[in-house]
Amino acid sequence: MEKQKRFILPENDIPTQWYNIQADMVNKPMPLLNPVTHRPLAVEDLTHIFCEACSQQELDTEHAWIDIPEEVRDRYKYYRATPLVRAYALEKALDTPAHIFFKNESTNPLGSHKINSALPQCYYCKQEGTTNVTTETGAGQWGAALSYAASVFGLEAAVYQVKISIQQKPYRSSIMRTFGATVEGSPSMSTRAGKNIITREPNHPGSLGTAISEAIELATTTPHCKYTLGSVLNHVTLHQTVIGLEAERQMELAGEYPDQVIACFGGGSNFGGLAFPFMRHNIKDGWKTEFIAAEPASCPKLTRGKFEYDFGDEAGYTPLLPMYTLGHDFKPANIHAGGLRYHGAGVIISQLLKDRLMYGVDIPQLESFDAAILFARTEGIIPAPESGHAIAAVIREARKCKESGESKTILFCLSGHGLIDMTAYDNYINGDLRNYTITDEEIAKSLEAVPEV
Ligand SMILES: *Cc1c(COP(=O)(O)O)cnc(C)c1O
Repeated sequence: MEKQKRFILPENDIPTQWYNIQADMVNKPMPLLNPVTHRPLAVEDLTHIFCEACSQQELDTEHAWIDIPEEVRDRYKYYRATPLVRAYALEKALDTPAHIFFKNESTNPLGSHKINSALPQCYYCKQEGTTNVTTETGAGQWGAALSYAASVFGLEAAVYQVKISIQQKPYRSSIMRTFGATVEGSPSMSTRAGKNIITREPNHPGSLGTAISEAIELATTTPHCKYTLGSVLNHVTLHQTVIGLEAERQMELAGEYPDQVIACFGGGSNFGGLAFPFMRHNIKDGWKTEFIAAEPASCPKLTRGKFEYDFGDEAGYTPLLPMYTLGHDFKPANIHAGGLRYHGAGVIISQLLKDRLMYGVDIPQLESFDAAILFARTEGIIPAPESGHAIAAVIREARKCKESGESKTILFCLSGHGLIDMTAYDNYINGDLRNYTITDEEIAKSLEAVPEV
């Protein structure tokens, strides 16, 4: 039989609903808590920051299927369905009997999966009468996706980008500004929080913490302005399930079903987006697919973090989230996979990890770039440094198959391309990158900041 390389779905087969795994989980996620009263949060407690629809989705443990609004689905058509691809050349280079498939989320013009949630978030904001959206961004993928989605639905976007990251990745702010967003380096002089930081420390390089404080301040002090987030929260992962739902049909076209599903892990949105639709068969039908989240060895919350109530942000503004965490003021090493430098794991993922429905693996930085470069040279796509972690985990599994002679079917998420991250590749090729190790003492120290509940 002729070998089929790519499995393509017609527009009609773009999902009409997202999958909400919370409804099927045997042990539901524990509640989010108000940081002052420690009482469980209700939808109304979230709506002063987030839009109403997303606040409801965040806490919805009842409805397994949630309709994708027609206008959002129309915009998904601009780049979905994304291809499912069999990585024949990578298989051959590894001389493995494994069948390796990847869902290619790098094909949209913004270059990462984040657009899948940026579109619905902006759509709902517009519906609810919001005129402005704001957010923070580190490496810039989320800021870029949000800027585009805001322009699609006629909203003004203000993005606080970590100052040092604007210098390291200048083209991402160019993308945001091309779509009409205002980009401020954080800390900035445009908010009280920013001014305070600059007064104390004029050369502060910025961090996600400073940027979050500024974005939340803007959202809460500007009329008709909402705050948005690109990872970690339940509604974000919900939107990302279009990835796995399409992949499920495409694997059917390929005549296979994955033994292993693998994705890189920052806050969990591309991992959950690909994994949850498949995991529902483990939960409901007793199937035995393995789910592997690839995190950076320098930010190992899944394998070495502690399950605790902790803040979602460095500054301590968010509700308390029950999750695997390294402590909210954990300072990860400055690895190039900026999208994976997050201290915690998201509440759904954390419960699933606790219940052993999935597990994490740690990938050192150099191994992730080795893998990324092998993938580029075999499959012709330069992956985002984040996605390099997933590829490294896939390669480990494919090598195990070679040793055991087993022919497993492995499916992974190519969460983005690396074309705006070429400085990182240059550094790697020049031999200027290194691995970072982190000791148990360092982790224990940073966990001391976790609040008592
Ligand atoms: C943001 C990002 C990630 C990490 O975020 P998750 O929510 O864990 O998916 C991974 N890959 C790319 C390309 C990203 O932009």
